[in-house]
Amino acid sequence: MTRVFGIPMSLRFRGQTDRQGVLLRGPAGWGEFSPFPEYGPAECARWLACAREAAYDGWPDPVRASIPVNATIPAVPARRAHELAKASGCGTAKIKVAERGQDFAEDLARVEAVRDALGPGGRIRVDANGAWDAAEAVRRLKELDRFTLEYAEQPCATLDELAEVRRRVDVPIAADESIRRAEDPLRVRAAEAADIAVVKVQPLGGVRQALRVVEACGLPAVVSSAVETSVGLAAGLALAAALPELPYACGLGTMSLLTGDVVVDSLVPVAGEIAVRRPEVDEAALARFEIESPQWVRRMEEAAAWLAR
Ligand SMILES: [Mg+2]
Repeated sequence: MTRVFGIPMSLRFRGQTDRQGVLLRGPAGWGEFSPFPEYGPAECARWLACAREAAYDGWPDPVRASIPVNATIPAVPARRAHELAKASGCGTAKIKVAERGQDFAEDLARVEAVRDALGPGGRIRVDANGAWDAAEAVRRLKELDRFTLEYAEQPCATLDELAEVRRRVDVPIAADESIRRAEDPLRVRAAEAADIAVVKVQPLGGVRQALRVVEACGLPAVVSSAVETSVGLAAGLALAAALPELPYACGLGTMSLLTGDVVVDSLVPVAGEIAVRRPEVDEAALARFEIESPQWVRRMEEAAAWLAR
């Protein structure tokens, strides 16, 4: 059984105002298939494999019962950043930097405000979404590290630039946008481009496949969401719960980016952690967001055909 959903987002994300996808139900429970709009059948096939694993196979046993998550601080003024970090209840914050149209003084003020809000024991990572070139990244990270950074996520766009920055600064480097397919973590490792791999369970093809990829890559992993409903988040949570080592807070506290959910007991953090569990789809909740979409049915059929090749 499949159901198509569209949930308005609180902010624009990847140029979209609605997060859409398909929920499928199998003997093991619900799975979510929600590849981004620009992805073709080959990429979508991985996302479908993840949804099918959830629906038909279930997940490996967890080795931990709760997952620490980071607060996400957008490119807001310092005062607002302070409030958001304080209100989050999280001990780790990820701060957006290098926003188009802003200058570096705003980044510095924002990071300083969050350090002040979290105190010396808090952990702060910055995310530039690949916006800097290598020279600029080196300069910026050296300045920002005055507030003690846990790591810098994707300071530059390419693996060569990441590797150069990594050689020239003490701040550990995490690869996010550089990891979109199952073979990418190994390329990141081979290029010595990062210390940490940010991984998402749907594009890697499910929990078991992601566990294999992380093991082969050998870098510590930070599990992030693709801004899914609680059905999709549960798969990311299952991955974070099954990883042998989990040294960093994960990016799974993203339910607040959606204006609703298809379950009633959403996977939201409490005191900076999400308990490992698997909420059930609620028919009344789903009914609010269910849409007719021949396009999504077709995308899923094409992904299925790709998997069956
Ligand atoms: Mg990122």
